[in-house]
Amino acid sequence: MNNLMSYLKLNGYTSGIDLKFYLETNKKLRKSESFEYFSNIHEAKVFRVIDLSKAMESKQPIKLTPIKFNTQCCNARVNFNFNLWVYECPKCRSSVKAHSDFMPMGELANRKLGKLRQQLHKELDDVWVNGFRTRNQTYSLLSEKLNWPRELVHIANVTTDEDVANYYQAIVWLKSEIRCS
Ligand SMILES: [Zn+2]
Repeated sequence: MNNLMSYLKLNGYTSGIDLKFYLETNKKLRKSESFEYFSNIHEAKVFRVIDLSKAMESKQPIKLTPIKFNTQCCNARVNFNFNLWVYECPKCRSSVKAHSDFMPMGELANRKLGKLRQQLHKELDDVWVNGFRTRNQTYSLLSEKLNWPRELVHIANVTTDEDVANYYQAIVWLKSEIRCS
């Protein structure tokens, strides 16, 4: 896996995602076919990592382009805005920032969801900014509590009102646990 990381670096990119996780996920999906636009952001990420590892094996230089997927909000073909370096839904203008290698930093969010995510961040930051737990410990605990995979348990992946509520409750729980220990 470190090979894939150094291969990306060699080609001038920093990796924005957990490559190992996405390779493992692909094995579970057991798909070999790739599509022009994937049905969701997650599949598009998985196949980007597969393409990268193939390119690495054939020792070819790479020039990355945005990944292509249908948006979860409107099921529309996503746009990449090169000025703002964000993925945007052409219908409702939900957006998400991307890493230098075009990997999206999470799921698309509209203005309201963006604000809710900011509030969650504010609540969560206390836990590790003030040194009660490390960032990694914090996310591991949330992963267990929410029953989300560790690699996906980021606020940027919160998409529905239900997610927001569950995430908020998990943070409240986490804070009470810390006070007890
Ligand atoms: Zn939309």
